[in-house]
Amino acid sequence: MKERLPGYLLSLLQGVGETADRQRVSVYVVGGIVRDLLLDAPNPEGRSGTRFEVDLIVESDGIRFAKALAQRDKARVAIHERFGTATVAFADGHTFDVATARTESYDSPAVLPTVRPSSLREDLCRRDFTINALAIRLNASRFGEVVDCHDGRRDLQDKTIRVLHGLSFIDDPTRVFRAIRYEQRLGFQLDRNTAVLMTEAVKMGLVHRLSPSRLSAELLHVLSEREPVNILARLADFNLLQFIHPRLKWSPGLARLLNAAEKAVEWYARLSLGRLTSPWVVYGMALLDHLPQPAVQETLARLTFPRRQAQTLLWVAQEGARLLRTLDRTDKPSDTFRTLRNLPDETLIFLMAKTRSERAKQNISDQFTTYRRVRPVLRGNDLKAMGLEPGPLFNRILDWLLDARLDGTVETEADERRMVRRMVRSPG
Ligand code: ATP
Repeated sequence: MKERLPGYLLSLLQGVGETADRQRVSVYVVGGIVRDLLLDAPNPEGRSGTRFEVDLIVESDGIRFAKALAQRDKARVAIHERFGTATVAFADGHTFDVATARTESYDSPAVLPTVRPSSLREDLCRRDFTINALAIRLNASRFGEVVDCHDGRRDLQDKTIRVLHGLSFIDDPTRVFRAIRYEQRLGFQLDRNTAVLMTEAVKMGLVHRLSPSRLSAELLHVLSEREPVNILARLADFNLLQFIHPRLKWSPGLARLLNAAEKAVEWYARLSLGRLTSPWVVYGMALLDHLPQPAVQETLARLTFPRRQAQTLLWVAQEGARLLRTLDRTDKPSDTFRTLRNLPDETLIFLMAKTRSERAKQNISDQFTTYRRVRPVLRGNDLKAMGLEPGPLFNRILDWLLDARLDGTVETEADERRMVRRMVRSPG
C-alpha cells in the first residue's frame, strides 16, 4: 500500500486504523480500490478523476464509527440511517463510505435483498465477483493484511471474472452488466461457468424483472465508462441490448457510429476544452440513432435517465438529421455559429461523429476551435462612449459586429467603429 497509494490517502487510511483501535472495532477497506490496488494497474485511481472512492466496512456499528472518524479528522459526516451507512467527507474532497458489515438474503429474484449485520466474511460473500470480494485490514497491528476468502487474488492474476456462487445472477441480474463492464474495462475474461450462468439468466428473462431505475443505473454505468463501445458490443453478444429496446440490434452501422463517437469524445478531450460534462450522453445518442422515432420515445419514457439529458437525447433524435443537413449547406461562419451556439457540447460531438459530410464536420470543429472564441473588440461600454443608448438596437449592433468578425468582413477596431457608425445612420 505504501508503494501504490499517494501519501495523503495512506495517512488517511492509517488514521482510520487508529480510530478503529481506539473504538476496539475491526475495520477494512473493500471494493474496487482493493481490486485496483492488488492489480498491476499503475495507480488505483478513482474513476471520477483524482478522487478515490473508498469503501470501508466496520465489524460493529458503522455509523458510530463514521462519527468518530469524522470527529478525529474534522471531516463532515452524512448519515444514511435507512441503509445503516455514512459518508465521511474530508477537507481535501475525498469521501469514505462507511458501512456496517452485513449479510443479505434474497426473498425473490431481481428485487433488492433484506439485510442484517454480520461479520466481514459474510459481507464479502454477498459480493458480485471474486475480484471484488477482497478486503484489506486497516487496524494498526494488522494494517495491510489482505482478506481473501474466495480466491480473488488468484482470479486477479488469471484475469478472470467469476461469480461467488451459482445463484448470483438470479439474486441480482444487474451483475450480468457488471460482469461485462469489468471484463472489458480490465481486459479480463469471463470464467466459463460464469458466462454460462449469464446466458441462462438472460434466457430465463431475469433481466426483464429489473425495475427501470435499476436497469437505467446499470446502463448509465456502462455508457459512463471510458471506453464503452466494446462493452456495448459484448452486451449485444449476450443479447442484452433488447433490454434497452427490443428493436435495438447490433449492426455494422451502429458499430461505426459508436466508434466514431468514441473518437469524437477523445478529440474533444485533446482540444484542451476539458472533459465533456456527460460523455455518456454522446453514446446514448449513438445507440438511439438506430431506432425509429416511436421506439426512441418509448425507451426514454421507460428509462429513468436524468431529465435534462433525456430531453437532449430526444431532441437530437428528432432534430439531429435536419441540423446536419443545414450544416452541410452552410459556409458562412456566422450561420454555423448561430445554428450551434445554444446546443450542449455533447450534441455537437455526437453530430460530428454521425455526419459523413466533411463540410458539416469542419463547421462543427470550427465552432469549437474558433467561432466560440471570436469576440468583437468593441464592447457595450464602447458603444455608450460612441453615444448609443443601451436597448434593443444596442444588442443588435453587438450581434452584427460579432457576425462581421466571424465572417471576416471587419478585421480591426477601426473597421468595427466604421460599421457601427454606418448602422446607426441606417439601422434597418
Ligand atoms: P468501480 O467503481 O471501479 O466500478 P467498484 O468495485 O468500486 O468499482 P461499486 O459499484 O462502487 O464498484 O461497488 C463497490 C463494491 O460493492 C464492489 O466492489 C462489490 O464488491 C460490491 N457490489 C456493488 N454492486 C454489487 C452487486 N450488484 N452485487 C454484489 N456486490 C456488489
